[in-house]
Amino acid sequence: MAVVKQLADVFQPENYNLYFEIDRETKTIVGRTIITGEVSTTDVKLHQNKLHVKSVFVNDIATLFLVVDDEIRITVPAVGKVRLTIDYETVLTDDMVGIYSAVYQDGGETKRVVGTHFEPAFARQAFPAIDEPGDKATFELAIKYDERPGEMILANMPEQQVVAGVHYFAKTAPMATYLLAFAFGEFYGITTQTATGVEVGVFATTAHATAEMTFALDIAKRSIEFYEDYYQTAYPLPKSWQLALPNFSAGAMENWGLVMYREAFLLLDPDNSSLTEKQSVATVIAHELAHQWFGDLVTMQWWDDLWLNESFANMMQYVAIDALEPDWHIWQLFLTDDVPLALNRDAIDGVQPIHVTVADPTALNALFDDAIVYAKGSRMLVMVRMLLGDAVLRNGLKIYFAQHAYRNAIGDDLWAALASSSGIAIGELMATWLNQPGYPLVTASVEAGDLILSQQQFFIGDHNNDKRLWQIPLHSNYAAVPELLTEQRIVVGDYAQLRRENQGPLLVNMENGAHFIVAYDTTLWDDIQQHLQTLRVVDKAQLLQDQRLLLAAQLVPAQRVVPLLLALSDDKHSLIKHAMNQVVATLRMFVAEGTVADKRFRRLVNQLSASEVTRLGLSSRDGETFDDSTSRPIMLEAAVTGENDATIVALHRVFVANNKHLDNISSDIRRVVLVNEVLNFGDTSLFDYLMAEYMKARDANYRADISAAVARSRDLTAIAQVLRTLKNGAVIKPQDLRSWYGDLIANEAAEQATWDWLRENWQWLSETVGGEAKMNRYIRLTAQTFKTRKRLIEFQSFFEPKRVVPVLQREIQVDEMMIKGRVSLVDTSRQLVNDAIADAR
Ligand SMILES: [Zn+2]
Repeated sequence: MAVVKQLADVFQPENYNLYFEIDRETKTIVGRTIITGEVSTTDVKLHQNKLHVKSVFVNDIATLFLVVDDEIRITVPAVGKVRLTIDYETVLTDDMVGIYSAVYQDGGETKRVVGTHFEPAFARQAFPAIDEPGDKATFELAIKYDERPGEMILANMPEQQVVAGVHYFAKTAPMATYLLAFAFGEFYGITTQTATGVEVGVFATTAHATAEMTFALDIAKRSIEFYEDYYQTAYPLPKSWQLALPNFSAGAMENWGLVMYREAFLLLDPDNSSLTEKQSVATVIAHELAHQWFGDLVTMQWWDDLWLNESFANMMQYVAIDALEPDWHIWQLFLTDDVPLALNRDAIDGVQPIHVTVADPTALNALFDDAIVYAKGSRMLVMVRMLLGDAVLRNGLKIYFAQHAYRNAIGDDLWAALASSSGIAIGELMATWLNQPGYPLVTASVEAGDLILSQQQFFIGDHNNDKRLWQIPLHSNYAAVPELLTEQRIVVGDYAQLRRENQGPLLVNMENGAHFIVAYDTTLWDDIQQHLQTLRVVDKAQLLQDQRLLLAAQLVPAQRVVPLLLALSDDKHSLIKHAMNQVVATLRMFVAEGTVADKRFRRLVNQLSASEVTRLGLSSRDGETFDDSTSRPIMLEAAVTGENDATIVALHRVFVANNKHLDNISSDIRRVVLVNEVLNFGDTSLFDYLMAEYMKARDANYRADISAAVARSRDLTAIAQVLRTLKNGAVIKPQDLRSWYGDLIANEAAEQATWDWLRENWQWLSETVGGEAKMNRYIRLTAQTFKTRKRLIEFQSFFEPKRVVPVLQREIQVDEMMIKGRVSLVDTSRQLVNDAIADAR
């Protein structure tokens, strides 16, 4: 932390008085910022980015100033209280950061709204500030804009008055600059009140129907009520607005009192939404509202403790939704999404730890790694919750909020609060997980009659083993196994005796609750196999997960993994199907499309899915189980991959029957129906029709289904046309470029053209999506699919020169390791894996 220059060290603003005049036609912003605060030296620096500063007044006296890079330098007459008045101009962009505008279609008319996105350091593009999370101030906001009848403006706080077209908002509580927000345009919304009188609202453009907002309003209201109870701390503001913007860079952003979302993460078609879509909207809302306390009320002192915000909100989204909708079994989503995301990424040497020093402020964006700070971080906190218990955790949080409300905190403050509620030095245990990258592989083996447990770091691909150790909660079904493994190796005791004393085979990391994987030696593995069907669902799914990773690390042969798949293929639980699906995706890496091995691979996939596809059918039955509803789309997709003729024909019939109203196809299976059509019945007219539907569609989930299907095309002409369309903002919104790109690069038939497109359009893309800081995802999506030496070399030659950009440095380095690991894995194991697939019966 010491290496980072922090401007708040010499100037702490107490209040910002912000005035903006924004014109969408001329794309101009005229601003006046009045900052009052305390200076401790006479040389004051403020952050700025692309602001054209006209004048600076210090205590109402015109003063000379200097703009150097991202700073405005001002000399004040004396230390102590000061009042700075800065007049400036800047431009209204449409790249989804700072104050930006976004276009959308409404009944054939193109309309424009304005919104904001300031995290982590884009507030300085809107106004001069000490733009650091550790500096909390109050904000008084006034905005005038090219207002037309029927338009509405929203901000963090309620509007107080409108005078001569200027909208004035109530003063905020002390908060960080990155949480300030406003938006205007043809918005409208619906509101309600929580039990404690907090106004809750959901807003969207008038292109959307009220009914699309009702699900979100209910979840938002109940989430706030849940958190008030869970945190034992009142919601700190008078209102909580949720706003869907037509173009938004992140999934959503927790601006205090005015949370902004992508439309897909807030609005739902009331008549046709799958459980998955509902879960996705609900968890995103619960995540952002968890932040209203964790992040907004108490904010990390500096970005190195970003995990205090994100890891926490990521865990709380599951805790909250599990309480609100217990029938959804939402923790399964954690196990199928977050856990593998973290385990896959965190196995590569060079990956960042959760708690990481930010050496260069321009590299801040690289911190927002969904696999690490979000997924792995939440897994850490789930581990804490498991160790402490929910009641102790809640009491600790109450203490934490009471101590740090409206102020800042560091990680140790949380551990101190939890230690005072639990009496456990949990911070010490967690330090091994937060400050070290990677995670351990626990090996369980029987040596000379003794049961031995040992730990070593788990890697996929090349690595330097620097002998890291963790404090590992073992959570075994054998009572003799200690609660924590802190040493490299321990002897548990005589295995034969232990086995007699216990009912079943040895299992470690029950509930899959801690961030490590387990390798069992042959004795223990055979025991598990013999009792496989007696194990609980979560344990079976975990075996699949761990074996998949061990296969990728070349630590177990495919001959162990493929039979496990076959043994579990009739299992009816969606958790197992998800885990099997991920194993199948790993096997696919070894198979080149169109080869004999590919035929055998597809035969295996068909074999694994056929009976369940027949049982589940195409449509849901009244009163069917949660598992059946969530399994159906996975199994149908597997059947399409497995070239199951009956399923291909049946899905085609659904398409034909709904040809005029594809949006009416049940959203549970709509995506696979469209994918099947593109793969097996696609031609130019289908492509044109789907793209026309894409342009017309209002429902973001329907649009996502179309894009996922179109991007799977094997037709090179269609692929070329899609790639050209990516640059047409009237058809494809900048926010959606990433998912289009991800789907296209993952399509073997489109890989070459898509990779060429990225290299040719790098500059354009980065300017369109908010700068190079936003390009990490594109690099990772690319690296996730590359598996040949040729691509590795191309990747290196294109990205090596970009390693000088601080925000891209680590991403490029780790992604290169990832591709290298995969290339060597495929080279070494292709034949073995293909043999195992050929042997499958
Ligand atoms: Zn978040």
